[in-house]
Amino acid sequence: MIESNLIGFSTSGVGDTFTVGMNPATGEPLSGQFPGATTDEVNQAVKKAQHAASVYGRISGERKAKFLNAIAEEIETLGDTLVERCCAESGLPEARIIGERGRTTGQLRMFADLVSEGSWLEATIDTAQPDRTPIPKPDLRRMMVPIGPVVVFAASNFPLAFSTAGGDTASALAGGNPVIVKAHGAHPGTSAMVGEAIMKAAQRAGMPDGVFSLLHGSGRIVGQGLIQHIGIKAAGFTGSHQAGRILYDLANQRDEPIPFFAEMGSINPVLLLPSAFNSDTADMLAGSITMGVGQFCTNPGLIISIACAELDHFVQVLGDVLSKGDAGVMLTQRICKSYTDGVTTTLSQEGIKVEARSDDEDGLNMGQPTLASVSGETFLANPTLATEVFGPFSMVVKCRDNAELEVVLASLEGQLTGSVIGSEEEFSKYQSAINSMEAKVGRIVYNGVPTGVEVCPSMQHGGPYPAASDVRFTSVGSAAIKRFVRPMAFQSWPQDKLPYELRDGNPVGIWRLVNGNWTRGS
Ligand code: NAP
Repeated sequence: MIESNLIGFSTSGVGDTFTVGMNPATGEPLSGQFPGATTDEVNQAVKKAQHAASVYGRISGERKAKFLNAIAEEIETLGDTLVERCCAESGLPEARIIGERGRTTGQLRMFADLVSEGSWLEATIDTAQPDRTPIPKPDLRRMMVPIGPVVVFAASNFPLAFSTAGGDTASALAGGNPVIVKAHGAHPGTSAMVGEAIMKAAQRAGMPDGVFSLLHGSGRIVGQGLIQHIGIKAAGFTGSHQAGRILYDLANQRDEPIPFFAEMGSINPVLLLPSAFNSDTADMLAGSITMGVGQFCTNPGLIISIACAELDHFVQVLGDVLSKGDAGVMLTQRICKSYTDGVTTTLSQEGIKVEARSDDEDGLNMGQPTLASVSGETFLANPTLATEVFGPFSMVVKCRDNAELEVVLASLEGQLTGSVIGSEEEFSKYQSAINSMEAKVGRIVYNGVPTGVEVCPSMQHGGPYPAASDVRFTSVGSAAIKRFVRPMAFQSWPQDKLPYELRDGNPVGIWRLVNGNWTRGS
């Protein structure tokens, strides 16, 4: 494990502040001291990334695919050492980390396949019509090109799949951009191991020095320094609304504003229709609320339904399941404190009823599953109740009638997901409420829970602000690559100077839209 910043293929650690990994289950420090990057080291990493961009941005999809596949292989080569360190730093169980490692390497391979196949480039050719009247039509050819060096803020709650070699890094590299990762302080050792794996893969695959760097240190110094650096052209972020918004504003206040893609969490409303008041639904919801100690941006934090005796009984059943559930170790002491404070603040609001609280308190930094309820009227009168409590917490909103239910849904801010649990027959009765929900979310789930985000081309993980900073994009799935590329048109450009993907004869054999027809031919 390299206890330094990785600046391209070099290591550097001249800073005098250090991050130390902590085991949240024991409160004890783990091995290694990781020096925060200095301003000079930030500048070096960006300079190397700028140099690398001119080479890496032009290499073929096939070579990028080899690099991405090599990263996946190097991560697998780390074996149990990585799993052990990651479990120790995150408090997450081994099975979860092994699963997350599979998701991480799977994502890298998915992007490798995508860039090999090539249709994501949206190569479009309209050949010249010199004889067109009244004016000739020029030859125009357009495709996606890299945006330039990208900064990735690693997430605390996915130490592998949304961190050093996670979805943001994989999609930015796939798009042809050098990446500088700002490591998350909650798992510096995991970051160092994965960073070294990427460095080895880059060397093995013959990538330019500077295609990847990993910097430790604080968000305020290293993170803000990177975002404000003129050499950085885009960024990806997963974390709190507070930090995401600060960084988004900085990215937009630059002389040259840059795209800043932030995924900032959500309370993921669940619309519970009467036919769903049963124990199966209660088990399904309890599993989703407590999964990963509730530390998912897709955690169902709000359950909305119409008040009735059957709903009261359902809430009791759900509460019973939750109160029997175990508390779990949270990712960090800070996240646990923020959860406990959030629950305390919410439960202290007027009109809130505590429906269930797990009494399992043994151990350090434990997040206790908690369920509360509130009337629709009280919910609407108090915006505090619509703020995310990051952890195993959920609140049932009991609406007076269908009309109030629609007002509650319409009052919500943008969300990553919304779920509808009920029968298809109930759809027409609640269609207007379902429409309200659809307008607020990036993904709508029928008879299921929002946790368990599939990584595939059709996934949408984003949503209207403040769930994400730009509703048009996803941070999960192969479409995430679109955040880090831009369209570029070549007009009347000489054949031998065009990118291969746009040349006559289709030398790389990708799908292209040629004069209005999709073809893989020439
Ligand atoms: P965070 O505080 O938002 O931190 C995420 C990243 O942003 C870290 O690298 C952090 O750096 C950096 N950062 C924080 N404040 C900054 C600032 N003022 N300027 C520049 N960079 C800054 O998230 P977290 O540490 O993972 O967890 C804290 C809370 O965020 C949680 O309790 C939860 O509410 C929320 N969260 C949400 C999601 C989600 O899925 N949306 C995921 C994780 C966490 P340093 O901390 O190293 O300085």
